[in-house]
This record gives sequence, C-alpha cells and structure tokens, in this order.
Amino acid sequence: MINDTNKHKGLRNQLVATIKAKGIKDENVLKAISNIPRHLFMDSSFIDFAYQDKPFPIGADQTISQPYTVAFQTELLQVAPHQKILEIGTGSGYQTAVLKSLNAEVYSIERQHELFVKTKKLLPKLGYVPKKLSYGDGYLGWPEFAPFDGVIVTAGAPYIPKPLLAQLKIGGRLVIPVGNETQVMTLIIRKGDKEFEKHEFGDFRFVPMLKDSAK
Ligand code: SAH
Repeated sequence: MINDTNKHKGLRNQLVATIKAKGIKDENVLKAISNIPRHLFMDSSFIDFAYQDKPFPIGADQTISQPYTVAFQTELLQVAPHQKILEIGTGSGYQTAVLKSLNAEVYSIERQHELFVKTKKLLPKLGYVPKKLSYGDGYLGWPEFAPFDGVIVTAGAPYIPKPLLAQLKIGGRLVIPVGNETQVMTLIIRKGDKEFEKHEFGDFRFVPMLKDSAK
C-alpha cells in the first residue's frame, strides 16, 4: 500500500506555497510537486523532513535535490507532453517522477549502482514508469536514443559535456548546473546544427557530476 495521507498532502500544499513565493510560476510544475509523495522517495529516517524545501541524503553519498531546485530546472526545460527527455542523475527518482507527471518520455541515467537498482524498483511501484533507466556514465549521454527534446543534468558539471549538446534536437533545451564548488544554472538552446544559445540563472549547489560509473 502506498502510504500517502492527508497530512502529507497538507504539507505538500505548504511546500508548493513556499516554492511559489520563491518565484516558480509554471502551473504544471507546481501541480506535479503538489501531487508527488516526496516522502516515499526518501529513506524512512528522514520522512519527517520530506516537505521542507531542502535536499536530503538518499544513500551512496548522494542527495535528493531541493524541491525549489527541481521546480526551477523543470521550469527551464519547458517540457511538452510526449517529448523525449534525458535526465542525468536518476538518484531517488523524484525528478524523474516530476518529468513523468508532465507526460514526458523519460530516459534517465545513474552512475551509482545501489541507487539505480533501488530507484528502478521504486518508480513503477509509485506509478511513474520511465521509458528507460540506465546504469552508466551520463557524460556520454545516451546516443542510442538521441536526439532529445530536452536534457536535464541534476549533478554539478565542471563543464558542459559535448555529447549532451550533440544529442539535442534543433530547438531542444539543455538545463545544466555548471561549476565546481558552486554551480551556475545554465540553459542551452540549440538553434541550429552548430548554433547554441546560452542563458545563465544564478548560483546553486549540487553534488558533483562524476566520471564513469561507480560500483
Ligand atoms: N535527480 C535526483 C538528484 C540526485 S543527486 C533526485 O531528484 O533525487 C545527483 C545524482 O547524479 C546522484 O545520484 C549521482 O550519483 C548522479 N550522478 C553524478 N554523476 C553522474 C554521471 N556522470 N552520470 C550519471 N549520474 C551521475
């Protein structure tokens, strides 16, 4: 049984009010946050904190992103129904669930085996079925299923990996936090074969995007 109570729903409404006050406007994104039981994506020991606007540990030294950050990145991605979206850093699967709520076709890659296995089991249980999940290195993108309408990176990238640009459709959007200690939220829009437009949106802090896959 899925344990989602009215209390959880009440807390989610407060969370939605908080991220709205911080500037999130996209109604579909707000609706996704208000519907998705974030507490079920977290370790049970942190369940009381699930509706604070904060990141939290999910094991393997990783975190579930702060809801405001998830909303901010998703808003920048401008997902339309049935679009093909590549997510780098599946983690807890929470961002994956947000993309599924927007009716995207989600391809997601995770380099930590423990998280990959856990989240692959969890997502269908909660009713969020991604198109494909992969255990691997997101620096390479996923050439087999390219091109994508959108690519979202949920770990801090020291630079923008070329394969992610190459795998964008014309008109496609890449949302990626770029930097080492802190990251600048960056939106790249592919305007033509070799033409990319760059927009920057202020500082965020993510766990690092690492090379290769972990054990
Ligand atoms: N979207 C996740 C965020 C998890 S934190 C959520 O909402 O829970 C970022 C995740 O990116 C971590 O799980 C980390 O292991 C993963 N990651 C880091 N570098 C990666 C890479 N090169 N390829 C795939 N995943 C990566």
